[in-house]
Amino acid sequence: MSKTASAMETLILHLTKLPSVGRKTAERLAFHLLRAPKEDALALAEAIRAMRERIRRCSICGNITEDDPCLICRDERRRSDVVCVVEDPMDIVAFEKSEAFEGVYHVLDGCLSPLQGITASDLRIDSLEKRAREGSVQEIILATNPSVEGEATALYLSRLLEPHVKKITRIGLGVPMGGSLEYADARTLKKALEGRTKVE
Ligand SMILES: [Zn+2]
Repeated sequence: MSKTASAMETLILHLTKLPSVGRKTAERLAFHLLRAPKEDALALAEAIRAMRERIRRCSICGNITEDDPCLICRDERRRSDVVCVVEDPMDIVAFEKSEAFEGVYHVLDGCLSPLQGITASDLRIDSLEKRAREGSVQEIILATNPSVEGEATALYLSRLLEPHVKKITRIGLGVPMGGSLEYADARTLKKALEGRTKVE
C-alpha cells in the first residue's frame, strides 16, 4: 500500500496513463503541481476540461476543431478539389507547418491492420469514398505513414477510389520507412509532397 495521500496517489495514477510517463516522472509532476501556484495548477485542470468539452471532429474531413466544419474546410482560398488523406489529425498539424499544401484533408483515424483486427469499416473510409464519388475531387494524395500497414492502406484506397478520381498520388520518399509523418520535419514533408507520384 502506498503511503502517499490518496488525492496525490489518484493524480499520480492518472499521470502514469500518459504516453512516456512512468511512475517516477508521474510522482515528480504531481509534486511539481502541488508546489506550483494553486492558480497555475487549476488553470491546467481547466485547460484539459475546456479542451475535452470544446474540441470535436470536423464533419467533412475529421480534423479536430471547435467549429464544424473546420477552418481548413471553410477556407475558400484552399483547393477543395485536392484531398490529402492522412491517418491522424496530428499529421495535419505536421503538413500545415510545412506550408507546402494548399488543398484539404481527410483523416482516416488509423490504417488497415489485419494483425490488430482493424478493417476498412473501422476507418473513415466510407466518408472518403463519398467525397470522391461526388465528382469534384481532382486529386487524392495518399499520405498514410510509410509503414507496412500504411503502404497497404494506400494501395487499398487507390484501388477503391480509382473509378471516381482521375489522379491518385502517393507522397514521395524522404519520410523514412517505418517512420511516422507526425515526427517528420516541415522540409521533409514539403519534399515528400513535391515528390509525390501517380499510383498506377
Ligand atoms: Zn475539416
